[in-house]
Amino acid sequence: MEQDVPSEAELLVNMEQEQDLEPELRENMEQEQDLEPEQDSRLLQLSDLLKEIANDRTILAEFIEKNDISFENVATSTPNSDLRRDIRYSLEVWVAADKEKLFHNLNITEKNILQSKLWLNDIIIDSSMNLLQYQFPDLGGMQSCQLAHQLDFQRHEKLFIQVINRSPSDGGSHWLTVSNINCLQNTVKVYDSAYCDLPHEEEMLIASLVKTEAKSLKVQFANVAMQTNGYDCGIYAIANATALAHGIDAATQVYIPKLMRKHLFDCLEKNLLTPFPVAQSKKRRNAVKKCIDVALFCICHMPDTRSTYVFCDICGNEFHPLCVRLTSKINESTQFVCPNCTPY
Ligand SMILES: [Zn+2]
Ligand SMILES: [Zn+2]
Repeated sequence: MEQDVPSEAELLVNMEQEQDLEPELRENMEQEQDLEPEQDSRLLQLSDLLKEIANDRTILAEFIEKNDISFENVATSTPNSDLRRDIRYSLEVWVAADKEKLFHNLNITEKNILQSKLWLNDIIIDSSMNLLQYQFPDLGGMQSCQLAHQLDFQRHEKLFIQVINRSPSDGGSHWLTVSNINCLQNTVKVYDSAYCDLPHEEEMLIASLVKTEAKSLKVQFANVAMQTNGYDCGIYAIANATALAHGIDAATQVYIPKLMRKHLFDCLEKNLLTPFPVAQSKKRRNAVKKCIDVALFCICHMPDTRSTYVFCDICGNEFHPLCVRLTSKINESTQFVCPNCTPY
C-alpha cells in the first residue's frame, strides 16, 4: 500500500479534476498550503478514498486503521472546515452502511413475537443489545445472550449492562438485566421483573460477567417495576437496560405495560433504542429489595462450582485442579501450594 500512495501534488491535481467536488470546497483545498504536509496529505488521501466508498469500503477501513484516524482526530487535525465536514459526512455514511450490516432487520417471526404475547427470543434480545452497544460504545456488556451457554462472557471492570437468561441450560425461562452502574466495587445490581432469588446457574452467569480479585461479590436486587403477566420478562429486561444506558435509574421507572411491546417494535424498526414510556405521575423509590453475598473461589473467581477442589497446603483455599494446571488425579495426600502462596 505504501508504494501506491500518491504524492500530495498528485492528490491535489486529482482532487481538482473531480467533477463532483463542490467549487467552494475545491477553492478551500487550494488554500490549504499552510497545513502540516504529512497530515494534509493523509487527509487528502482519505478524502479521495472516501469517494470510493460505494465500491470498496475495505480499502477505506484499512486506511483508517493504518493511519489511526478517528472521528475525533479528523475533527481536530484539519483546520479546513469544509474538508473536515466532507470527511466527517463520508465517514458517517460509511458507518451507517456498516450499521445496516450490523443490525438485524426484524423478520416475520420476530414481528409476530413483538405483536403478540410471546416470550422474546435470543435474536430480539441480541438485536436490542447490539443497538445499545452501538449507541453507547463506552459501556461494556451488551454481549450476545448466547454466550451464556458456555459462560463465555467477557468479564468487565468498567461499567456494563447485560441481559441474561436465568437458566440457559434448559432453553431459558426468564430474562433479567444485570449491571454495575451505580454500584460500589465488587457489587452488581439485578433488575428482575419477577423474582428475587439467585439460582445457582444465575449466580454463575453473574459472576462470569465481573472481573474481580475479591473473595465475594455482592448481588443486590433493585426494587424494579414487576411484570404483570407471565410473558413480558424480556421486554422489562430491555426496558431496564435501556434506562440504565441512558443514565436513568431503572429502579425508579414505572412503565406502562400496554405500550412496551409497541415501543420496542418501533425502536428495532428504527435502529434506535429510546427509554420506554413511563407513567409521569408515579415514581418508584430506588431501594434494594435484597442483597446476597456470593463467595468466589479459585483463581477463576467463580462461585462454588460444585466440583472437585484441591486445597492449598498453606492458605487452605480451594482451587479447581484444571485452573491451577493439576492434571494428575487428586486425593487427600496430594500436596499443593496455590499460585498466591508460591514465592516468586
Ligand atoms: Zn477455578
Ligand atoms: Zn495458598
